[in-house]
Amino acid sequence: MKTELIGLDKEEFASFIESLGEKPFRAKQLWQWVYNRGETDFDKMSSFSLALREKLKENCTITRPKIVAEQLSSDKTRKWLLEFSDGQRIETVYIPEEDRGAVCISTQVGCAVGCTFCHTGSQKITRNLTAGEIVSQFMVARDAYGEWPSPTDETRYLSNIVVMGMGEPLHNMENTFKALKILSDGDGIAISKRRITLSTSGIVPHIAEVGSKAGVKLAISLHASNNEIRSRIMPINKKYPIEEILKACQDYQNVSGTRMITFEYLMLDGINDDLSCADELISLMKKFKIDAKFNLIPFNPWPGCPYRPSVKKQVLAFAERLNKAGYAAPVRVARGQDILAACGQLKSKKNNC
Ligand code: SAH
Ligand code: SF4
Repeated sequence: MKTELIGLDKEEFASFIESLGEKPFRAKQLWQWVYNRGETDFDKMSSFSLALREKLKENCTITRPKIVAEQLSSDKTRKWLLEFSDGQRIETVYIPEEDRGAVCISTQVGCAVGCTFCHTGSQKITRNLTAGEIVSQFMVARDAYGEWPSPTDETRYLSNIVVMGMGEPLHNMENTFKALKILSDGDGIAISKRRITLSTSGIVPHIAEVGSKAGVKLAISLHASNNEIRSRIMPINKKYPIEEILKACQDYQNVSGTRMITFEYLMLDGINDDLSCADELISLMKKFKIDAKFNLIPFNPWPGCPYRPSVKKQVLAFAERLNKAGYAAPVRVARGQDILAACGQLKSKKNNC
């Protein structure tokens, strides 16, 4: 069996090259070809002799997932439906902003958490993605924008990564953290950890490790200000209630300095958008002394969903209440809605609506 290189970390590159009887510096060169230059053709690896190129062809592969469909939204958000070798499919999204752009990557096919507002959650879990499958999503996006070799300046299109696609990353922690290590390696894809944010529904035992092990920024999908509402819209709250999540957030902040935590808050009409909810949020943050900011997310409806988005006036009043208490609370603009690429709309079936 040939070894697939995408998804191997530096140590594994070293042992692979050693197993071929080659000198250690070849591992470094191969790493650069694969992850820094994005090369997929061994014949183009000009720093290798013909003999070595042939040996590599015989012993390893560099695989991208198959692009089943690609859609471009009117707001320039781009979405890829990708298929892996076993036929499983996921979606990856690129969200351009004025001076940068984020690639939103998936970590699982489906999701076991089952949040009632989420399209992915209505899909159940099929399997975890491997580290290679997670890394290769970013590589597909970079292929599309021709950003190889990894740019060193700040003008790059693909400047940030958000682990906010399909799946709960902390239910697939090992592969996700390994992928983030590869993605952030300065000799390879080189997206700095400061520019990577992992979003979780609040898997308490692993929250602090987002800081101590992965070293990336943390976002919590809070979406409610008390356990009664949260358990209703996110059943996982019965297992990991708000107070436990916030205690784990304290641990995250303790291990990683005073790194700000983003709380995502979906605005659902008549469910969690009363101003008393904003007051409850403020009390919670003060009680747990959390360095927090909020992202107020407009609810993106999907076919058959049971909620409506909050009205604009209510969202603005909610934001203002949080602002007055000293918390940033930008109102997110839904991106890529026309191609079902917005938060919570991802699903791996092709014709899903
Ligand atoms: N499973 C992780 C990461 C993926 S979800 C998590 O839940 O955090 C990414 C974000 O999209 C989460 O904040 C999620 O709550 C939000 N989201 C889910 N469904 C949505 C919808 N219909 N409209 C807007 N945002 C949604
Ligand atoms: Fe899973 Fe996140 Fe969707 Fe909840 S919001 S079902 S955790 S992907």
